[in-house]
Amino acid sequence: MSASRHPALLSTDPELASFVAAEEVLQAQTLRLIPSENYVSAAVLEASGTVLQNKYSEGYPGRRYYEGQQNIDRVEALAIERAKGLFGVDHANVQPYSGSPANLAVYLAFAKPGDTVMGMALPMGGHLTHGWGVSATGSWFRGVQYGVRADTGLIDYDAVRDLALAERPKLIFCGGTALPRTIDFAAFAEIAREAGSILVADVAHIAGLIAGGAHPSPVDHVDVVSTTTHKTLRGPRGAMLMCREEHAKAIDKAVFPGLQGGPHNQTTAGIAVALHEAAQPSFTAYAHQVVANAKALAAALLQNGFDLVSGGTDNHLILIDLTGKDVPGKIAAKALDRAGIVVNYNTVPFDPRKPFDPSGVRIGTPSLTSRGLSTEHMPLVADWIARSVDAAAKGDEQALAAIRAEVTDLMAAFPAPGLPLS
Ligand SMILES: *Cc1c(COP(=O)(O)O)cnc(C)c1O
Repeated sequence: MSASRHPALLSTDPELASFVAAEEVLQAQTLRLIPSENYVSAAVLEASGTVLQNKYSEGYPGRRYYEGQQNIDRVEALAIERAKGLFGVDHANVQPYSGSPANLAVYLAFAKPGDTVMGMALPMGGHLTHGWGVSATGSWFRGVQYGVRADTGLIDYDAVRDLALAERPKLIFCGGTALPRTIDFAAFAEIAREAGSILVADVAHIAGLIAGGAHPSPVDHVDVVSTTTHKTLRGPRGAMLMCREEHAKAIDKAVFPGLQGGPHNQTTAGIAVALHEAAQPSFTAYAHQVVANAKALAAALLQNGFDLVSGGTDNHLILIDLTGKDVPGKIAAKALDRAGIVVNYNTVPFDPRKPFDPSGVRIGTPSLTSRGLSTEHMPLVADWIARSVDAAAKGDEQALAAIRAEVTDLMAAFPAPGLPLS
């Protein structure tokens, strides 16, 4: 298979080529439910693997520290224009290497080491870079953290306001990595205004839903929007920072020269292509289908007797709480992997277990929707998950192998974008 797909790689480095070929087969044959993953299009894949790779471009379009930018400037300017158009923002910086460095640039732009910053606690669904202790953002800054209510699994906006008014943080982050519900950006904006804080919406997970009109946009409510480009937005691994004109200089200075050197131009090209794709009507349909699939999958999981954090989902993501089952998250996740269903184990709010061996499994529908699965398939997916967790409890490897065969069969009928037919 790889012989025709990557001939130069195969002849130069057959060992590495064999790993890539195996990964292509794995991605083609499995049901990928990790909510932060997706399949980029063949066009994004091609743009990300071009000779733009060979060029150094420190600076910004029209203001570079290296010559020979005739084409690179056009690539980056196009990506910027498309980001501004798609999200309706004054300013976009498309250079951050990934979501974590993008967030670090926000700290650099607006805070000094030791300042108080506020975000959602990691075990509640927040991200490491929102001031959690083991992250640089939690050791160089003083992180104070909010969470969700134990009874509803929803963000407690009254508690967020009380904490913000008591702590007066320089920065407030909203958004996270395991939040199955709509974020109320207007409520956060009111709190940030009262507390005198810069408000950052980290929409890494939901950027594609926002672009496709399947989740409200934070743009009119927040000071800065931070996003990765590789999750629901379905671009290459990278990130963007977007803001109003008043913060443009601070953001650009923080990314370069504050934090980074030369931008990854091949990634910028891939981002430009992904933003073009995300502006098409087919992407709007995709974003709404992601949510419809997640809602159908959540309903089917509830019918199979699973507990879901917050009772369901409004977006692409579902957090299964296995506290009441005999099988903890990690054992369930590993059994699902053997059944050809790829998920990640995750803490649930107020988890009685440890982060490396937690009670939850986090799943999502961006990848399966990119392959064309729709709501009619979700009862089957829920049934596979239920049977796999059951098999994990009984140690029934044969049952897992049988499910894997069924999964491979269905996936063969829904080819993955950018991958060989399995
Ligand atoms: C994924 C994610 C990030 C980090 O992105 P990386 O590209 O993995 O560094 C930051 N914030 C949120 C909310 C995320 O979901």
